This record gives sequence, C-alpha cells and structure tokens, in this order.
Amino acid sequence: MTTAAHPETDLVHALADGELEQAEADRLRAHIVTCDVCTRELDDVTQLKLIEGSLRRSQGQVLQLPKRSRAIPRVAIAWAASVLVLFGLGFMRARKAEADADRALAESRAEAVKAQAALAAQLDAERKVRAGLESELTDLKKPRTDMPVLALNRTRGAAQAQTLRLAHGQRWFVLTIDREDPPAFEVYRARITAGATQVWATERLDPSSRDSLSIAFPTATVPPGEYELSIEGQGRAGWAPVARLPFKLVQEK
Ligand SMILES: [Zn+2]
Repeated sequence: MTTAAHPETDLVHALADGELEQAEADRLRAHIVTCDVCTRELDDVTQLKLIEGSLRRSQGQVLQLPKRSRAIPRVAIAWAASVLVLFGLGFMRARKAEADADRALAESRAEAVKAQAALAAQLDAERKVRAGLESELTDLKKPRTDMPVLALNRTRGAAQAQTLRLAHGQRWFVLTIDREDPPAFEVYRARITAGATQVWATERLDPSSRDSLSIAFPTATVPPGEYELSIEGQGRAGWAPVARLPFKLVQEK
C-alpha cells in the first residue's frame, strides 16, 4: 500500500464525524481496514474527538487541538488525555470533598443532638436537686415535736454505749451531755468518731445552758452506727478532757 493511496486527512475526520455519504464511507473503510497507517490515524482522530467531547462536557471548554492536519502527534493525545484525567481527578476530589462535608455535617448534627440530650439531662438533674432542696426547706419550717434526744450520762462514762432508736424517716437527733457541777469550762470542743474515722468535729461548742451541752445532728451527717463522742473543755492550761461517751444509733424498721 503506497502513501499516495491514503485518503486525505479531511476525509478521515469527516468519516469520524459521520459526515460522509454511505458509498464514500464504505470505500474509505475498505482502505482503512487494510492500512495500518490509516487505521492508526482513524484511532487517533476518534480518541481526540472523545477527549474533546469529554472536556467540553465537563468544563464547557474546548481544547485547541490540531485539526484537519495529516499527522496528529501522539504526544498531543497523551497531553489531552492527562488533562482529562486531571479534570477527572478534580471532579472526584470535588465529589470526595462533598462527601466529607456531608459526613462532617452529619457528625456535627449528631454531636449537637448529643450535647442537647446532655444539657436536658443536666437540667433535669438540677430540677430534681432543686425539688429536693425545696422539700427540705419546707420540712425545716415545720416545728419538731418528735426530735429524738439521747441524754449521754457522764457518770456512766465509757462503760457501755447508750442507744438511740431512730424512727423511719427521722432526719435529726439530739445529743445532750450534762456539764460539771459547778461548770469548769466556758467553751468546749467536740468530735464524733467511728473507730479511727472522724465523722464530725467542732472547735467551738458553747454550752446550751448552765447544766448541759446539746447538739442537734442531721442523720445525713451522722447516720445509724456506733460512735464515740469526745468532749474537751478549754481551761487556762489548754484543752482538758471532759468526757468520752460511746453511743449507738439504731434505725428502726
Ligand atoms: Zn492508508
């Protein structure tokens, strides 16, 4: 097959564009299928048209490619193809960025829902605390007629624990201790221990009267259990022991 027998490049383009009459197209194809040069040229032209079409669709842009020239450099096709790949990558990156943004949005929405639930739970907890405090305050305003009192007898000393029975729901109790006769101290200090653990202490306990010391305890501070109340008096030489009184609080069923 000689070069002179090759069809004009215009014709190959026209064939690729589907612009030829049926008879001429058939005649051209009959040559091309037997000619490697023309087959390659038709491939190149077809590839270029595909790439141009893709670019036009994706970017609304027309790539300036050599038209109707005899030899379409393969390097131009490679370049155009790489541009297309880049646009394709850009498109995929854009899709990925979109998907990432969607996911981030969904995550932040989930976070917001979680934060809202946590806030609601906190408000609910605060409401409960407030309701509890209000009920306690109402309770405090009521006069006490049923306050259990344990008169700790100093003369019985540490020999045996004296017991106070608390009715169900009892939230306060009173310990009273008789003073020296005549009183030896004007100021006392006291503490309650359960074994080695200090449950409560005060550095200043003023006498309730000439005869006694008395302290009211919430059971929240001193719950049912076995204790020892230690009392010291402030003398001129410092703190002096007054009494160590074991006692037992029992919760009645
Ligand atoms: Zn040919």
